[in-house]
Amino acid sequence: MAHRVCVISGDGIGPEVVSAARRVIDAAGVAIDWIELPAGAGAVERFGDVLPAQTIDAIRQHRLALKGPITTPIGKGFSSVNVRLRKLFNLYAAVRPVRSMPGIKTRYDNVELVVVRENTEGLYSGLEHEVVPGVVESIKVATRVGCERIARYAFNYARERGRKKVTVFHKANIMKMSDGLFIDCARRVHAEIGGSIQYEELIIDNGCMQIVRDPTRFDVLLMENLYGDLISDLCAGLVGGLGVVPGANIGDDCAVFEAVHGSAPDIAGKNIANPLAVIMSGVMMLNHIGQTEAATRIRDAYDAVLTGGNRDELTRDIGGTAGTQQFADALIRRL
Ligand code: NAD
Repeated sequence: MAHRVCVISGDGIGPEVVSAARRVIDAAGVAIDWIELPAGAGAVERFGDVLPAQTIDAIRQHRLALKGPITTPIGKGFSSVNVRLRKLFNLYAAVRPVRSMPGIKTRYDNVELVVVRENTEGLYSGLEHEVVPGVVESIKVATRVGCERIARYAFNYARERGRKKVTVFHKANIMKMSDGLFIDCARRVHAEIGGSIQYEELIIDNGCMQIVRDPTRFDVLLMENLYGDLISDLCAGLVGGLGVVPGANIGDDCAVFEAVHGSAPDIAGKNIANPLAVIMSGVMMLNHIGQTEAATRIRDAYDAVLTGGNRDELTRDIGGTAGTQQFADALIRRL
């Protein structure tokens, strides 16, 4: 029976990279019944809402989605569709594996880490107000339930995948209560289920310095929402950029897979965006639904394209001249 997967093309480069990813997944022979759903700027024009009810209903029903990036206006306008989706479906764990890719030469080799970001709390609570003119407050929320839940996810993830160490990035020296609660929960969960997994805490400013000096010393990185957002992009920069880092937003009964990158308006509509990050997110999705054989074949295929180093088959961000769809074609030829 075909898997029913909700698909949101999104804004900017979204439609280009998501269609490329769909072609690859279909070519790998997985029977997927794609349910196309509107969200983002395009949805406002057609449905008067950035996150139409039909999209919410379908994700609620099928509990699985592949999503393109969605533009969020800066400093004004509608609140983030991404944040709304994550809260609505309690997608509390953002999981972003960052690895050195074959054939992509960067300053570092052998990066193999994963960022586990709390996805529903922190400064993304959306609670902002003006106290008096010229003074605003933005509220950072941390709950014991939320902090414990993400710590448990990180340690279970590490255990299941044979990872050796969990490092928490925090700023509990300044935010003694909110980040204090976060590390308190991480310590407790480590004591309870950490087993032989090493546990480490770093104040995030030091953590940033350590990452750019030697990212290979990290394994699983656990942190609250805003820090995870920033560190994900920083880590992408270590392995070749946003075109090569996938992601998953995981809840207890729903999962939405999407790349770390945004809608990249600077390159939208030009057929030059790298679809690999969404393809890799699709691979994570296939593993999630037990289609591991197809997932491995796609991964082997893109590793082969990258290793081949043929400039005609690689997108510009990773040193080639190929377009978005040509990269997907090259990958499909290797399947
Ligand atoms: P961005 O991630 O869209 O782009 C940052 C830089 O990386 C740009 O130079 C872009 O061209 C490049 N880039 C990104 N993806 C690429 C790809 N696949 N191939 C090649 N180059 C790529 O970040 P931004 O410009 O700060 O944000 C643009 C919009 O995206 C904003 O509205 C932001 O809110 C939104 N955004 C959405 C998501 C999401 O939907 N999950 C995530 C991040 C940002």
